[in-house]
Amino acid sequence: MTAAPDTLPPLAGLEGARLDWRQDASGESAPHSRAFDDVYFSRHDGRAETEHVFLAANRLPERFASWREPRPFVVGETGIGTGLNMLCTWACFDAHAPAGARLHLVSTEKFPLARDDLARALAAWPDLAERAAMLIEQWPEPVAGVHRLWLDARVTLDLHLGDTTERLQLLDGAVDAWFLDGFAPSKNPEMWHPELFAAMAARSRPGATFATFTCAGVVKRGLKAAGFAWRKVPGFGRKREMLAGEIDTPPVDERRQATPWFTPPTPLPARRVAVIGAGLAGTSVAAALARRGVAVTLIDREGPGAGASGNAQGALYVKLAAETNRQSRTYLAGLLHTRRWLEALDPDATLWSPCGVLQLAPTEREARRQARFLANHPLPESVVRPVDAAEATRLAGLALPYGGLDYPLAGAVRPDALCHRLAASDGVSAYRGEVRELAPHDTGWRLTLDDDATLEVDQVVIAAATASNDFPQAAALPLQPVRGQISSLALPSGAPAPARVVCAGGYAMPPLGDTLTFGASFVPHDADAATREADHATNLDELERTLPGYPAALAAAGAEPYADTLKGRAAVRAASPDKSPYAGPLPDTDAWRHDYAVLAKDATRVPERPGRHHPGLWISTAHGSRGLASAPLCAELIASRICDEPLPLEAPLADHLHPGRRVIRELIQRQRA
Ligand code: SAM
Repeated sequence: MTAAPDTLPPLAGLEGARLDWRQDASGESAPHSRAFDDVYFSRHDGRAETEHVFLAANRLPERFASWREPRPFVVGETGIGTGLNMLCTWACFDAHAPAGARLHLVSTEKFPLARDDLARALAAWPDLAERAAMLIEQWPEPVAGVHRLWLDARVTLDLHLGDTTERLQLLDGAVDAWFLDGFAPSKNPEMWHPELFAAMAARSRPGATFATFTCAGVVKRGLKAAGFAWRKVPGFGRKREMLAGEIDTPPVDERRQATPWFTPPTPLPARRVAVIGAGLAGTSVAAALARRGVAVTLIDREGPGAGASGNAQGALYVKLAAETNRQSRTYLAGLLHTRRWLEALDPDATLWSPCGVLQLAPTEREARRQARFLANHPLPESVVRPVDAAEATRLAGLALPYGGLDYPLAGAVRPDALCHRLAASDGVSAYRGEVRELAPHDTGWRLTLDDDATLEVDQVVIAAATASNDFPQAAALPLQPVRGQISSLALPSGAPAPARVVCAGGYAMPPLGDTLTFGASFVPHDADAATREADHATNLDELERTLPGYPAALAAAGAEPYADTLKGRAAVRAASPDKSPYAGPLPDTDAWRHDYAVLAKDATRVPERPGRHHPGLWISTAHGSRGLASAPLCAELIASRICDEPLPLEAPLADHLHPGRRVIRELIQRQRA
């Protein structure tokens, strides 16, 4: 049996696949791996082979046709390669599954194909062209981690980039049918390891099936040792035999033994869900649930985007730690996720701009920090790259005296417009009102609003920033207000303006229309949302530090960069003490303090009891000033948990975001005190 490593493998870019295009038996050119000296598929009959080996041997047509569960059917694959198997599975699902069914594909890949190679390989199957286009369009950057792709309204693909065994150990999710692919065991002995089969077993639903093209002894032994029953069935074409089978009783998830408090609550019905708070956290979770067929009521006392998410413009960016840590990894995952999510939501980029972000290094210290970051995180240049002053100047379109890091995938967003768009999603009813009371009712929750209206729902997501603490169930969650004010001015025509978001201590954004926005002040423990001249002055000072001489250049061009003439908007964001968001089920804090009290005496004595939660109560808050990078991913995390799906990020990162983490930390610290 396998336990997930508690430490994450390094955050890094991946070596891409090196391909030859060789003529196969039919004389057609097909992709061939140079590293493994093996084929991805035969161009002649690759599709028929996929259908025989993986789809038919897992009985997918029949199982799809009879799928009536509210959760999606989950297929897991080792090695997505060209995506052919996954696209065929999607086509098979469309051909057989009833209208309300959903499909969730999970596949790993350590050597991802370049996008052009993917397109070339998939061009062999014209009738899959539309599906292939969706895959190619969303094909992620080669960065280790989980990348969620929305193939269509019913079909999601999570690409877990990295080594298969390691990725399955980190997967938080359970699979109904496995495609045990990967190059032949003789060509790729490292993958076909006992730990691979153990990881598959641990991530299987009871009765999960598998199929594989090989009959190698190492595979039979590994599957058996992990608890799978296998049998030989006729292989495809010239291959006489292959293996298929199932696992009736998967092993218990051992990784929860070290952290029983993070055991997810048992899934409950989720036909109707209320979301309290219509900022980015609430509207993104509402849209994520509605997309899954849940009837969502979104309640906010002031309407969408009234709080900290209501700025006309905001920067989608992250500041990653020089030494890797879970917070930094979560934010990088969040940045990549938001970017893909925005492209899917708003392909014409009316709500956002893919302008890129420059993170300048105005001091020697920051330059050294950035250098350490790059040395520790070998990421592709399409994600982050160092630039000197000349290149930074070229990218920003403004004279810059220093270089820094360029994030080409980051950019600027219109958070207010985005909240409105999400609140108007099909399946979301937006309701203006204040929730006065939230009480358990029957098997769900009853909400009483300020106009005495009541609403009964199965589950509730609280996404009300610091006001989340007003609900007794969330009162113990450590949250602090952080005041933030942005400044803006009208740009006369011809005035200089950044072409990228440029940030150092503060940031300035490319103009939206003729409005230049910069900021933002950051004042912890201040809950006042009135604009202040003093904050404009601070923002101007920061602008001068970030872009020396720029305020003067603005003035010379006829703009009015003065504290007493600037416009702006102030709002209060919510932050946690460790500056990571809270996203997940709401712990019953008293129960946790009781159940895990022994940790305060001896942190090595981990009680077995799983964490007790307020059933059907969830929270997404503490997104601070980086909600654009974190809220959409947290929304997917919560919607995935509610709907009993695999998670869009690694188990240790989901634990990192767990709203109960501070309770455990406080107990352990008491022991140390
Ligand atoms: N399923 C694929 C398709 O539909 O095109 C074909 C898979 S190809 C035969 C095998 C894939 O496994 C390759 O893409 C290869 O890079 C990947 N692979 C090999 N070893 C791996 C490992 N240890 N971890 C993750 N992926 C691996």
